[in-house]
Amino acid sequence: MKLYIDGEWVSGAGEQPVLDRWSGEQIGTVAVGTAEHAVLAVDAAERAMRLGLPVPERARVLGEAARLVARRAEEFARLVTAETGKPITAARGEVERAVQTLTWAAEETRRLAGEAVPLNAIESGAGTLALTVPEARGIAAAITPFNFPVNLVLHKIAPALAAGCAVVLKPSEKAVLAAGLLAEVFADAGLPAGWLNLVTGPPAEVVDAWLADSRVAVVTFTGSTRVGWELKARSPRKLHVLELGSNTAMVVTAGADLERAAAAAVTAALSNSGQACVSLQRLYVAREVADRLTAALSEAFKSVRHGDPHDPATMVGPLITPQATAALKASIDTAVAGGARLLAGGEVVAGVLTPTLLTDVDPDGALVCEEAFGPLLSVLPVDDLDEAIGAVNRSALALNTAVYTRDLGEAMRFAERAQAGTVLVNMPPSYRADHMPYAGVKDSGQGTEGVRYAIEELLHHKLVVLRS
Ligand code: NAD
Repeated sequence: MKLYIDGEWVSGAGEQPVLDRWSGEQIGTVAVGTAEHAVLAVDAAERAMRLGLPVPERARVLGEAARLVARRAEEFARLVTAETGKPITAARGEVERAVQTLTWAAEETRRLAGEAVPLNAIESGAGTLALTVPEARGIAAAITPFNFPVNLVLHKIAPALAAGCAVVLKPSEKAVLAAGLLAEVFADAGLPAGWLNLVTGPPAEVVDAWLADSRVAVVTFTGSTRVGWELKARSPRKLHVLELGSNTAMVVTAGADLERAAAAAVTAALSNSGQACVSLQRLYVAREVADRLTAALSEAFKSVRHGDPHDPATMVGPLITPQATAALKASIDTAVAGGARLLAGGEVVAGVLTPTLLTDVDPDGALVCEEAFGPLLSVLPVDDLDEAIGAVNRSALALNTAVYTRDLGEAMRFAERAQAGTVLVNMPPSYRADHMPYAGVKDSGQGTEGVRYAIEELLHHKLVVLRS
């Protein structure tokens, strides 16, 4: 795969092989871009924005891109599975959502609008007509993670194009080929040159060139908490949208439907091999039902299919790198040495960390306080809902959270007091739809995604005041 700059595929300073995460076979190559390529990409984006892209044309391109991704869905899914080891069923689900993201963006483009401002409500505004006009903030630098390499790349590109912002994109070096396929789709959909530029290469070199470039107005980043806040600290004058990590918590009250809660916990902890920003990691359970729920979970974890990600029955595949597997296994071993009890998993079989369930975990330890990003869940018994809410809120990370309860009062108390971007009641905390507002609070980020909300982040509402 080459770099895609100004509507052309161009070579980098070299090439690196891309391997199938499961078999180790080479499945492609990726160009190594440099800081010079990063600047050329901004040059192209600047030219594109000078020429402009009419709103109906933006909507048409996004709609056409949706149709093309749908047509090539299986190709996208297989590529994602090969490159990242994401189980194929999850990869197919991701591509379905990618089509929705594009479709929503095409629709929202036609709804871009300002509003009348009643300046004539005060005397100094007599005789005026005032209205806001949405304008693109400028070039958006999009930096994306490995774990949803189609849909999360589209959560950057699609709102930006809808808003009229040209994009310079650096996808994760661990999942580049899907981004290349997306660039191909946009070219086939008729997106004019310069509106989408794709630069792969050493992350710091490429991204630093954009942080240093005053023509880049917005940095829209999805990835780890550490890198996200670092990028903001290095370019404080740019607008930053940061979608970062979490250690998602769910609460199960004594009166909850335990069967539903257990099923939700399994899905939320293990989908995509636990590599989702909203993967369930901390399960706070009312003490009187903890044994029953833990027994159900332990049985379920042991029966989850793990191994070859190309097999549609597999729920848990390999983590993104052998290093990630080794690091998480070491954290589990440390927790167990410190008194945690392993109820399922905790082993590496054929390179795959088996679905891992723990209890008696140190509430101040790494497995609870830091993002694990793997197929791992800790069960933490609590005395009551207040203790659970306190524990949920003790974390500095806060994306989604959920409560399982049959009591409306408990549900409302949780919804009001839990510190989170999204609170779900009787739904898994890993739930996300592409048009819903989606944001982290506290250390988990700033700015909101979800197509309509992401478009809003990328707009400046210029006020125009007219008087004859
Ligand atoms: P990462 O932070 O390692 O990488 C994300 C992007 O940043 C990649 O493109 C990478 O190349 C780039 N990058 C890394 N170091 C950089 C540097 N020094 N300078 C410039 N760019 C740099 O994250 P990851 O491992 O790819 O993804 C997993 C993380 O993403 C998890 O923490 C997960 O929770 C988070 N995530 C958040 C959301 C959300 O919506 N909140 C969604 C998905 C993933």
